[in-house]
Amino acid sequence: MQEILDQFDISMMRKYPDPNAQILVDALAKAYGVSPKQVFVGVGSDDVISMAFMTFFGGNKPILFPDVTYSFYDVWADVYRIPYTQIPLTEDFRIDPKDYARENGGIIFPNPNAPTGVFESLDTIEEIIKENPDSIVIVDEAYIDFGGTSALPLLDKYENLLVVQTFSKSRSMAGMRIGFAIGSEKLIRFMNDVKFSVNSYTMNQVTLLCGAKTLEDDAYFRDTTAKIIATREEAKKRLTELGFTFPDSYSNFIFAKHKTADAGKIFEKLKERRIFVRYWNKSRISQYLRITIGTPEEMERLYSALTEILTELEATA
Ligand SMILES: *Cc1c(COP(=O)(O)O)cnc(C)c1O
Repeated sequence: MQEILDQFDISMMRKYPDPNAQILVDALAKAYGVSPKQVFVGVGSDDVISMAFMTFFGGNKPILFPDVTYSFYDVWADVYRIPYTQIPLTEDFRIDPKDYARENGGIIFPNPNAPTGVFESLDTIEEIIKENPDSIVIVDEAYIDFGGTSALPLLDKYENLLVVQTFSKSRSMAGMRIGFAIGSEKLIRFMNDVKFSVNSYTMNQVTLLCGAKTLEDDAYFRDTTAKIIATREEAKKRLTELGFTFPDSYSNFIFAKHKTADAGKIFEKLKERRIFVRYWNKSRISQYLRITIGTPEEMERLYSALTEILTELEATA
């Protein structure tokens, strides 16, 4: 990163950035083995997905997304006045492709899903895409680098698929704000048409340079994600020993429920100890905590805090 900052030239601030974001688009095309015409970049994947909503969704038919999922989809749908139907996940938090075989104006879901961490196989994804040739299907792969298999190869077969990824999670660059979509040339052209009608200069020149540069060091990227995966696998063992259950996670968090202790109470007690996990007081997931994988040292602190908390809660039960 320092190397890139050393190249930083103040004139980059004086001039408008390249509206085509070509340096980053080309680097992504090379890294993912697609044509630059198949790549769209934006200010984080939130910007990319919001652009995709604006571009592809908005007819009279409802778009479909799962009931337990990333919390922004319904927000964008509301903002853009797009009708939507949320499809409940199955009992064990899975996506059943049959539930998506109904009239719709588009489909979006994360894979792995958030906040469950559940990964669906490419067969499941393909079934949904195949079943819906007249809809754009967006697969939000924010967590794909933590062990899942990307739907990118399906692009060879389906023109209605859009795969969205981000530099914010597995590439540890949330502050840079880089997200991207890969799809058929046609879909990417439509998205760029909309972008150029809203704001041509979404990404600044420093971000474009840094994003392109970091893609060159694939070994470092593989190494850091492998560390998170190793810590997550250890967390699965340790949390199980502490009495937690969870759907198997392919992301950088674990969505865990304790066999006896109340999730809301554990959340409060962790917070008192300045350990922050996510808790949603919503009917179906009110007994779950989303625990993000930290460094091994941070995780050790979590396990000892949980051991204390569970003893305390048992004593007062
Ligand atoms: C984090 C996240 C995003 C957005 O990330 P950006 O920082 O905007 O790239 C989108 N979808 C899911 C499922 C996420 O978890």
